[in-house]
Order: sequence, then structure tokens, then C-alpha cells
Amino acid sequence: CGIFAYLNYNVTRERRYILEVLFNGLRRLEYRGYDSAGISIDLNSNSPLVFRQEGNIESLVKSVYHDVAATDLNLEESFSVHAGISHTRWATHGEPAPKNSHPQSSGAGNEFLVVHNGIITNYEVLKETLLRHGFTFESETDTEVIPKLAKFIFDNANEEGDQSVTFSQVVLEVIRHLEGAYALTFKSRHYPNELIACKRGSPLLLGVKDLEEEASAGSSFGDAKFPSSNGQPKELFLSSDANALVEHTKKVLVIEDGEVVHIKDGGVSIYKFDQAKNNHGGTLSRPAS
Ligand code: GLU
Repeated sequence: CGIFAYLNYNVTRERRYILEVLFNGLRRLEYRGYDSAGISIDLNSNSPLVFRQEGNIESLVKSVYHDVAATDLNLEESFSVHAGISHTRWATHGEPAPKNSHPQSSGAGNEFLVVHNGIITNYEVLKETLLRHGFTFESETDTEVIPKLAKFIFDNANEEGDQSVTFSQVVLEVIRHLEGAYALTFKSRHYPNELIACKRGSPLLLGVKDLEEEASAGSSFGDAKFPSSNGQPKELFLSSDANALVEHTKKVLVIEDGEVVHIKDGGVSIYKFDQAKNNHGGTLSRPAS
């Protein structure tokens, strides 16, 4: 029901700070309704951790700090770049339960993680196809097909010898197969410190805070719809609602239906996906090899 993501770039942030930014984002989205919540932060850049909890944001906060203490995860460890995602869920498919909370995962190792706001109407046919290809499902959500599809597409590209497939190429291929309404944010172990967001029907906004040009920053992107990576320290946010962004920045871009936003190396690239080309699912095939 609500998505909030936070990426710090070239600015040192401690794990505790990153967690608190994510929790505060979720608190701002709580009014949208929720029955469970979850987040993903990194153990290190190659190991995303996932925490999911039924109930309100404060029960997630409590369980995260509890788990962190139990695992000796250092809250003071700092990251000069880090991508975190979080979600409040209003269940449409599958009862409120930790396994049905988001982020939903591609499976062991959290190769691909997805937070989703909306409903994937053709998830059953996608799930059948993925089951035939050996995937197993842990949740009853419509969402779980999305990270699994991402892994399927990523693995196929790699098997075909395309080791250089980009995160946005994977996601563009995933959403070609999706029907329904969605705002999505993707995080991946294969693409550390990158985030992808896209939407069709559900709201999603991007906020950018340039930490060194605060004073000169305008109140909108103006022509700079594609802020480039200039090495300047910045913080980037994705949110379902502007009210979780205003305390951080006035530079807010409303992501439009059919756009894919790729955050990488402090830069933002926006791709259009052609909705007309959206096929009707169930046509995934593994190349004969
Ligand atoms: N349809 C998804 C689910 O039930 C997402 C619900 C939401 O928007 O929170 O898990």
C-alpha cells in the first residue's frame, strides 16, 4: 500500500540512520492503511537482508531492532553508498503474515527483491510458467511472481552469454509480462547500490536531495528531468506520497505511467516502456541450449 526507498550516494550514513529514514518514511505513509510492513537493507553490498512483520510500523521497528541485536549487526557501521527499500502492505492476495509481507524475494540469497503497491491480475499464469521452470513459491501474494520473473530473465540472459545485462534491461523485460496496476521498486544483490522504480496505475514519486547545492536548488527538476551522476553527494528517495518526501527535499519528480527510473552511481535515467507491447503473460520460454 505504500513504498518508501532511500539511497545515499557519496555521503556517509550509519546503518541506524538508514533504518530510521526508512522507518520515518513508512510512518508518513501509514495513513494509507496497512496490515504489515517490511524493509530491506544491506549486510554488505552483496547481501541484502530482509525484515518483515505483521501489524503496524512500530511492530516492524521493534522486530528489526530485536533481530539486529540478536545477530550482532552493527548499527554504527557506515556506508558511503547504500540502497534501502521499505513497504507497508494492504493485503489483496494472501493473508497478513510475515511471508506475505514485502519485500518479496526471488528466493535464497535475495537475488531480486520487490516492493509492490497494487495488483498483478495475470499472476496466476505467470506463476504456473515459473513453477514449470522449477521455481518454488513461499507466499500467497500476486507480487512474488515479479522477483522470480526477474531472476528467470537474469539467469536466461547470463546463460545466453549476456553477462552485461543491466538492471533496467531485466526490469523492462519483467514488466512486459505484467498486467494490472502497480508501483514497484526493485533491489538486487547483482546490482548493489542501484534501485529501479516503475509504475502503472499506482502513484510513485522520486525525490532528490543534492547535499552540496541545497541553496541553489530550485523547487522542481525543471528541464533537468534526468539528473546526471556528477559525483556530488546526494540522497535519493522513492515514495508513494509526497508527504514522506517534503521533510527531505523539494526536488520531487512525479513518475509517470510507463516510466522506468534507474538510480545508479548517483544518476537517474528514465526509460519509457511501451504499454502496447505488453504481451499477455505465459509466453516465457527458456531458449533451447
Ligand atoms: N497485491 C499485493 C499484495 O497483496 C500488494 C498489496 C499492496 O498494495 O499493499 O501483497
